[in-house]
Amino acid sequence: MDELRLDGNAAAGTLGEVFSFEVTTAEYACGGCGKAGTLGGAAVYEVRDLGIIVRCPGCDNALIRVAHNRGRYLVDLRGTKYLATG
Ligand SMILES: [Zn+2]
Repeated sequence: MDELRLDGNAAAGTLGEVFSFEVTTAEYACGGCGKAGTLGGAAVYEVRDLGIIVRCPGCDNALIRVAHNRGRYLVDLRGTKYLATG
């Protein structure tokens, strides 16, 4: 493998493309039960004054947690095996 080590700024273009995808058609696999589906088919719960939790419709595992605090978004994807652009 031929790798070139750069600082984090070099990832801006690729990550900018990755994180601007159509969310409703993005595919996930649940880290709890392995179910795969699209985010548009998952269950979303709003947590007042904090953010949202996206849960697996198969096992209720928290797939994604998004908190909004002091003008910043904090995203926790630990409940997914993967998230793929749609
Ligand atoms: Zn699940």
